[in-house]
Amino acid sequence: MISSNKRIVILGAGYAGIFLATNIARYINEKAGEVILVDRNHYHQLLQEIHLVAAGFRTANEVKIPILTLIDGMNIKFIQSTIKQIRPEKNIVVLESIEIKYDILIICLGASTKYFKIRGAEENSLPLRSISDASMIYDRVSALIKSDNKQNIVIVGGGATGVSLAGALSDFIKDSKKIDSLSITIIEALPTILSGWNERLIKKVNEVLHRKGIRIMTSSPVTKVENCGSSIYLSNDAASKIQSSLTIWTAGVKGYDIPIDPEVEKTKDGKIIVNEFCQIDRHPNIFSIGDIAAVKDENGKLYPPLAQIAIREAKYLSKLIPKHFIDGIDVRAMPNEKFEYNIKVQLISLGNDDYIGVFNHYVISGNLAKLVEEFARSTYIKSIKSGSGGRDIIDTSLYEDNIFAQIVSGITFARFTFMQWLEKKI
Ligand SMILES: Cc1cc2nc3c(=O)[nH]c(=O)nc-3n(C[C@H](O)[C@H](O)[C@H](O)COP(=O)(O)OP(=O)(O)OC[C@H]3O[C@@H](n4cnc5c(N)ncnc54)[C@H](O)[C@@H]3O)c2cc1C
Repeated sequence: MISSNKRIVILGAGYAGIFLATNIARYINEKAGEVILVDRNHYHQLLQEIHLVAAGFRTANEVKIPILTLIDGMNIKFIQSTIKQIRPEKNIVVLESIEIKYDILIICLGASTKYFKIRGAEENSLPLRSISDASMIYDRVSALIKSDNKQNIVIVGGGATGVSLAGALSDFIKDSKKIDSLSITIIEALPTILSGWNERLIKKVNEVLHRKGIRIMTSSPVTKVENCGSSIYLSNDAASKIQSSLTIWTAGVKGYDIPIDPEVEKTKDGKIIVNEFCQIDRHPNIFSIGDIAAVKDENGKLYPPLAQIAIREAKYLSKLIPKHFIDGIDVRAMPNEKFEYNIKVQLISLGNDDYIGVFNHYVISGNLAKLVEEFARSTYIKSIKSGSGGRDIIDTSLYEDNIFAQIVSGITFARFTFMQWLEKKI
C-alpha cells in the first residue's frame, strides 16, 4: 500500500545505476513515486568493452547507449549534469546548476584510477576508465604502429582491465603486421595476474597471453615512473629500469571521489562503507552499490569491482527499496534480506572476439566462450529495457539466483544459441 510519494534519486547511470533505475521504476509506477537518474553523460557506457575501443575493434559510439532510449516509456526522469556534492543531513544533492531533494538516495558513481601514491605514475601514464581514455590510447598506439623503431607498450596492472587491454592491443598490432617491432609487457605487483580469479582460468589466460607474445612480469611492484612514462622503475636501483614507449596504468581502482558533507565512512580506497543491505548505517535513506561501494560478503571480504556484481546489487535494491520505504518494512530487522551473491561465471576478453571463461567449474574458450559473452551482452541490454513492467521475465531471470531462474536462463541460452546458428545458416 502506498503511504506517500517518494522521490528516489539515483546518482550514476553506469551498470549499477541504469539497471537499478529501470528495474525499480516497475514498482514506482504502481505506487506513484518518482525516480530521478543523474549522470554527467547522456549515454550509458559499456565500460567492460572500452579496451576494444583502445584497440580499434569497436568505435566509441558502439559502446555508448543513449540513456533516453533505455528508459523510454518508463517512469524515470533523467538529468544530465555533473554531481558536485551530497548533503545527507539536508537530503540534498548539489548538481552543476541546481540542487535536488531526495527521500531515498542511491550512490552508484563507479570508480577512478588508483595510483598508490607512486611517484610520477599519474603524470606519466594513461589510464583506462572511460571511452575518452580508450580513444586516447587508440591514437597513441596507432602512432606507435606507424613508427619504424622498436617500441614497447607497458601495461602496469595485471587485473581484468590490464589483461583484456593487453590481449586486444596484441591483436591490433598483429593485424597491422608490426608484431616484430612492437611488444607488450604487463607488469604486476602480485605473484599472479588476475589475482582472485579461478586458478584454472588464470593458467589458461597465461598460456594465451604467452602465445600472443605478451611478456608478463609478476611480483614486480613499480616504484617510480619518469620521463613521460618512458622509464619505469621496479626499485630505486637504476638497473631495475624498464624502457617504455607508452605506459598505461591499470593497476588499481578507488571509489569515485564525490564530496559528501558531512563525510561518511570510507575504506582507505575511498569506497563508501555500507552494511549488508548496501545501506549507509548513519543515513538509512542512503544506499550505495557498484564499484564505489564497499559491500562485504558473508566471510567479511569485499565483493570485487565487477559489472556482474554491480548488476546483482542493483537487482537486489530494486526489490528491497520498495519494501523498505514504500511498504514501510524495516529490512534491517529481516536478516534473510541481506545482499548475497556467489560468482558462478567468470569471463574475460583476451582480444577481438577472443574470450576465456569458467562456467559451472568448466573452463570454456573459443566459440562457446564467445557465445556466452554475446548472450550475456544481449540479455543485459534487453533486461535494462524490459526492467519497467517486467515485460520479459525470461531476460531478467538471468539476474535472479533461484533454481527456476537458472532453468529459464538455461533454456534462453539454448534458444539464443539456436537463433545465432540459424542466422549464420540463412
Ligand atoms: C577495460 C575494462 C574491462 C572490464 N571488464 C570487466 C569484465 O569482464 N567483467 C566485469 O564484471 N567487469 C568488468 N569491468 C569492470 C566493470 O566495468 C565495472 O565493475 C562496472 O562498470 C561498475 O559499474 P558501476 O555502475 O559501479 O560504475 P560505472 O559503470 O563506472 O558507472 C558510473 C557512472 O557514474 C557517472 N559519474 C561518475 N561521476 C559522476 C559525477 N560526478 N557526476 C555525474 N555522473 C558521474 C559516470 O558517467 C558513469 O556513467 C571492466 C572494466 C574495464 C575498465
